[in-house]
Amino acid sequence: MSETLVVNEIYLSLQGESTFAGLPCIFVRLTACNLRCSYCDTAYAFTEGSKQTVQDMLAEIHRLAAPFAARIGEHKLPLVEFTGGEPLLQPNALPLMEDLCDEGFTVLIETSGAHDISKLDPRVRRIMDLKCPSSGEVQRNRWENLRHLKPTDEIKFVMGTREDYEWAKQIIAEHKLDTVCPLLVSWVQPLLPEQQDKSLKKVPAGQTPISRLELAERIIADALPVRFQVQMHKVIWAPDQRGV
Ligand code: SF4
Repeated sequence: MSETLVVNEIYLSLQGESTFAGLPCIFVRLTACNLRCSYCDTAYAFTEGSKQTVQDMLAEIHRLAAPFAARIGEHKLPLVEFTGGEPLLQPNALPLMEDLCDEGFTVLIETSGAHDISKLDPRVRRIMDLKCPSSGEVQRNRWENLRHLKPTDEIKFVMGTREDYEWAKQIIAEHKLDTVCPLLVSWVQPLLPEQQDKSLKKVPAGQTPISRLELAERIIADALPVRFQVQMHKVIWAPDQRGV
């Protein structure tokens, strides 16, 4: 019997948030997450989705990749990124990622950092969050994951407050994270009213919001060894548009 996964959506777009930003990418958004970050813009993936067999998912990925494979050869396939929700909540995703690596795809996973990343195929590029204080989920960081990171992985800090910035600066220095892998900093874009899911955590009291400009200028002033990034898809498309 075929293995199944609960899938929110599979679509082709541009990778928007990592050192791979701008490249064609097939996104596999899996349903469910056990965190409730204050800024989460994909709350629709907490529960919306349908069960799909791994074979059907592979067929859809092949269909979306076909124009690229036909035009520029198998070594220029689009990226495949597993995201969510939290992809590590579904163990059947791991062998699917392995199969895609075997087929020559560059496979990325975006994970909250709250789950064990060590079981992933070493060829999978792990883009792992370290949750900052304003997320309301800082206590969920699984610090043991740090020792499993490789230079091909990436750590992402999503920052919405001055407290987030100071926290991340300290964590980067304490763990010498700039010697581990690329470090990404994203600014929290305020959610639209329709994106504000009632189950999301509140930003803890007493924190001071930081603007995108202030965040960029602090990074420069402190010579922080990070890559500042904007959420590219929100610049190109409407901030709440799905499937892009
Ligand atoms: S880890 Fe946080 S931001 Fe990511 S899907 Fe879960 S609640 Fe949303």
